[in-house]
Amino acid sequence: AQEALLENQKLMSIGRLAASISHEINNPLESITNLLFLLRAEPNLSERAENYVELAEKEMDRVAQISKQTLNFYRETRTPVRIRPSDLLEEVLVLYSRRIQERRMQVIREYMTDETLLVYPGEMRQVLSNLVANAIEATPAGGKITLRTRRARKWSDEGIDGLRIVVADNGSGIAAETRQHLGQLFYTTKGQRGTGLGLWVTRAIVQRYGGEIQLYSSTRPDHHGTVFSIFMPTNMRPQRVLRDGESPRGEEGL
Ligand code: ADP
Ligand code: MG
Repeated sequence: AQEALLENQKLMSIGRLAASISHEINNPLESITNLLFLLRAEPNLSERAENYVELAEKEMDRVAQISKQTLNFYRETRTPVRIRPSDLLEEVLVLYSRRIQERRMQVIREYMTDETLLVYPGEMRQVLSNLVANAIEATPAGGKITLRTRRARKWSDEGIDGLRIVVADNGSGIAAETRQHLGQLFYTTKGQRGTGLGLWVTRAIVQRYGGEIQLYSSTRPDHHGTVFSIFMPTNMRPQRVLRDGESPRGEEGL
């Protein structure tokens, strides 16, 4: 328990750090993007200069990708709100709808509960967005993604009521070798296209809510795919990430 507490505190301070960094870098990020756009439109730009601009834009894309996967999630409302996880899943689907359509993927919805969770929607959306992104990336064109919500009990403590959210795909599955590294910061099998941040962030957020993540995956040729199952307690107040210099007074904590 001592160890878990320490881990939690570590995650909290990382969250706080992420929030400050996000705040500090988002504005300059935006202006650099705009400046590069203007630069590109300059007449008489040499071919070499054009190549440099293009490279810079690519690198900026990468920064934006990283920031999207992590640094944004502590922003938004200052108090948690009650929201149906199925509504959050639908919001996330909108973000990926083009990719889903282009690749003719099938989305199966099995929303079995109307119950709500008390969460910071941005955080929970981040969790689901990371899982849905991974499912899409692992699944070939024509593949299938299943989204499910239902009431459940915590696996490690049957006394705690909550909801289970499942994001499943019939994609490649996760090889045993990869599995050993999951949850490790920056671990990715996607080379330059990956950041290795998604699952780490997901786990950090779910833990802060007193939730649990389970993973089933198979790479068998006749039956491959991955199931991420998240348990979230219905009656637990998430810890709020404090602003710089703010004292924890008034926090109800977990
Ligand atoms: P990234 O997606 O940037 O690689 P993540 O932390 O989201 O980083 O995922 C880490 C790794 O876990 C991925 O590179 C991939 O190998 C594996 N993975 C995660 N989700 C799935 C999935 N649904 N199917 C297959 N592999 C997955
Ligand atoms: Mg990912």
